[in-house]
Amino acid sequence: MKATLLERVRAGENLPSLPMVAVEILRLVRKDNVTGDELAAVIQQDPAMTGRILKVVNSSLFGLSRQIASPKQAVNMLGLRTVKVMALSFSLVDAVRACQSDGVFDFEAYWRRSLTCAVAGRLLARAVAPHVAEESFVSGLLADLGMIAAWRCAPELYNPVLEAVQGAERRLDEVEVEHLGLSHAALSAALLGAWGLPALICDAVAAHHDEGIAGLEPATAELARLTQCAALVAELFCRESGPATLEQVKARCRDSLGIEAQALERVFDSLDAHVRQQAAVLALRVGETVDYARLQLDAASHLASLSMQAEVERLASTTQAAQTRAALHRANQQREAALEAATTDSLTRLANRSAFDLRLVRDLDLARRQGLELGLILLDVDHFKRLNDTHGHRAGDAVLRAVGQCLAETVGDEGFAARYGGEEFVVLSHRLGRERIAELAERLRVAIARLSVQHDRQRLRITASLGVACVKPRAEATSPEQLLELADRGLYQAKRNGRNRVETACEAAAPANP
Ligand code: GH3
Ligand code: MG
Ligand code: MG
Repeated sequence: MKATLLERVRAGENLPSLPMVAVEILRLVRKDNVTGDELAAVIQQDPAMTGRILKVVNSSLFGLSRQIASPKQAVNMLGLRTVKVMALSFSLVDAVRACQSDGVFDFEAYWRRSLTCAVAGRLLARAVAPHVAEESFVSGLLADLGMIAAWRCAPELYNPVLEAVQGAERRLDEVEVEHLGLSHAALSAALLGAWGLPALICDAVAAHHDEGIAGLEPATAELARLTQCAALVAELFCRESGPATLEQVKARCRDSLGIEAQALERVFDSLDAHVRQQAAVLALRVGETVDYARLQLDAASHLASLSMQAEVERLASTTQAAQTRAALHRANQQREAALEAATTDSLTRLANRSAFDLRLVRDLDLARRQGLELGLILLDVDHFKRLNDTHGHRAGDAVLRAVGQCLAETVGDEGFAARYGGEEFVVLSHRLGRERIAELAERLRVAIARLSVQHDRQRLRITASLGVACVKPRAEATSPEQLLELADRGLYQAKRNGRNRVETACEAAAPANP
């Protein structure tokens, strides 16, 4: 079975052929005496590729002082080798993307892990072996390609593997070896070899789960160790390994790569932001990612729970056990309270801006996957500054509290209401279609105009203006910013048209995704 599966992957059975530009770039990668002009010319043939490369080289990742405007300039600034490998990785992402189709394979999770592994590989290499930073990116990006290859070439063999790991606490590579006699690392390397990637990358990928790294020649071993550590970091950040492993992964990176503790902290700190940036450049959907702060919080509370649990067990027979159990209970409550405080607006008790931002990303994704329309209402209290100036800030606060309560009651479970900031509120809903979201906005307008807020023996009346947007997110075409901008345009119209009204902005006017 092992031999046939390898053969089938090598023959590219059921796999799309490489895009022309990838073939061209691979040819240049294999050639020794390529010139910058030659490379720039190949890249320029593909406008999408040119755009992506310029985006990356102008991103914070490279921290260049001046704007790079052409592939040629990119080559001059960053060197031939860097740009060559970068172009290669972008063209290969397209090749892999062409494999996507429906089924049990979770492509979002795949890209999340692969991109995290690629970016971690690049950042780790920049700290300890900058000359192979881009190779390390490519190895990380393609290390798990064998999973897709196996799934496409031999679904009858690979689906049982995917099913066996789903929900089970087992490592994929172990289950693969058990079922297939080899892991995806070997399959990745076989396919990359068949595609003509340099042996250095193929060999590093083949060894990225520690398959015989010690026996490799030094340059290959170096890249293999980088890819291996990057894969561990990716598992950690993609929550495929528990919070307990944070310190283990750090120790492994330090031991295996000789990276200094501080440098490693910097890699972890910036990883999530770079992954998101890279995902945007490549137009890849990666779902929710976690940042380092979150990871540390989880690890710390996991550790605290563990040590308290141990304490409870130790004292089980004594009267102190009850006290310790109570302390554990309190700690858990405090953790929940801290989480609630971090996501709730203290004045209105509605969700706050950061909870809304997260929710927007999640709902856009959900709407995209399920083909739903996502509606957004932006609500701004009219002449609120005047109210503050006339009746005082406390009166203003009382009004904001009343608006918050009115929103919570009127929206109910038809949507998600949050305070966006100041006297602006938002409502997000994928349950209502285009017409019903506008109806909800109108109901909100009327309910707010009817409010009469009691404050210091006065009754305060207000109105609000509302902008509505409703989109059906297509493959990649709607970003959170675009939806917000659309609703903001409606709000602006409502203000211009005299306030205390609802205006809907239509999607056709939304800026196209680059
Ligand atoms: P418009 O109808 O065009 O929206 O005018 P406006 O006066 O409502 O808008 P503007 O943005 O000029 O003023 C908003 C004011 O809201 C200014 C700021 O001091 C006040 N504000 C922001 N946050 C709070 C808060 O938490 N409490 C109170 N009382 N006022 C706030
Ligand atoms: Mg405002
Ligand atoms: Mg206002």
